[in-house]
Amino acid sequence: MSKKLLYNLLAVLVLVSLVLAGCAPAAGGDAGEGETKLVGISMPTKTSTRWISDGESMVKEFEAMGYDTDLQFADDDIPNQLAQIENMITKGADVLVIAAIDGSTLTDALAKAKEAGVLVIAYDRLLVNSENVDYYATFDNFGVGVIMGSQIEEGLDLKNAEGPFNIELFGGSPDDTNAFYFYDGAMSVLQPYIDSGKLVVQSGQTGMDKVSTLRWDGIVAQARMENLLSAYYTDKRVDAVLSPYDGLSIGIISALKSVGYGTADQPMPVITGQDAEIASIKAMIAGEQTYTVFKDTRELAKQTAAMVDAALKGQEVPINDTETYDNGVKVVPSYLLTPSSVDITNYEKYLVESGYYTADQLK
Ligand code: BGC
Repeated sequence: MSKKLLYNLLAVLVLVSLVLAGCAPAAGGDAGEGETKLVGISMPTKTSTRWISDGESMVKEFEAMGYDTDLQFADDDIPNQLAQIENMITKGADVLVIAAIDGSTLTDALAKAKEAGVLVIAYDRLLVNSENVDYYATFDNFGVGVIMGSQIEEGLDLKNAEGPFNIELFGGSPDDTNAFYFYDGAMSVLQPYIDSGKLVVQSGQTGMDKVSTLRWDGIVAQARMENLLSAYYTDKRVDAVLSPYDGLSIGIISALKSVGYGTADQPMPVITGQDAEIASIKAMIAGEQTYTVFKDTRELAKQTAAMVDAALKGQEVPINDTETYDNGVKVVPSYLLTPSSVDITNYEKYLVESGYYTADQLK
């Protein structure tokens, strides 16, 4: 090949690549085929380790599938989460995966997202009062509550023991629909025992309007437990505490310890929890927390990435529930994963052998 021909050929190649680059679509919700898509991941807080794992697992899953990601944590501050989500839309996110602080506060942002053609996934927590939610990836939240109720049933041997036993009830944050599913699931097991008198709520405080804990705050739960103990249990023992989240359980345990529970004479009550957080597994090993519910965030992240990928490729999106999650405007098509009951007998299998934690982290 002559030099001249080679130069001409190179010039043509350069020209073609320049033209192609110029034609490439700009980043944005309406991006064309072939461009790397951007997934905005909005998590509520870093105070609970589960959301950190959720965020990290999602970044891993999405990036392995060839997506770009923008992961933000909102410090449990609603205006902050709103600003982060609006910023993701402005940056041209193609997908939003949102675990809301308060599921009802994002309606306007979701409308903007829809206008920009963004796919919206409610992650773990339902987004309510909006038609602009495409899918919901979560665990069987009522089932989580049933596990908690069954743990108390097992821990107190309610099927066989005569009782009566004293129990106090804690609920999650009232701005998170999950909290109601957890409570209702637990009460589906516990209410018959309360009705028959085998379980007694000495404070009389039942129902989410009385037992909820705003923002899932462990300090708030600790203060409420201290009040319950001084008002109703100076001459009685509390035998069980329904707690829907490990962060609350830790606060409740502190309150119990401060009045002398946790000794041979005055053992800890049966205490539930959720998320298998490191502090709670350590408390379990120390004999303070009896149970937790493990929801493998790696699985939820994987499921979410699979749903997003299918939706963006126009393929059938994997869902297994089209009835449960009415968000006030529509029933959001959902995929529900299965939660597991964890206690001292099986935590190693679920948490260490599965690689969720290292044995060292639990020391
Ligand atoms: C989640 C729970 C978590 C709680 C507090 C709920 O929405 O489903 O796993 O314990 O929020 O973060």
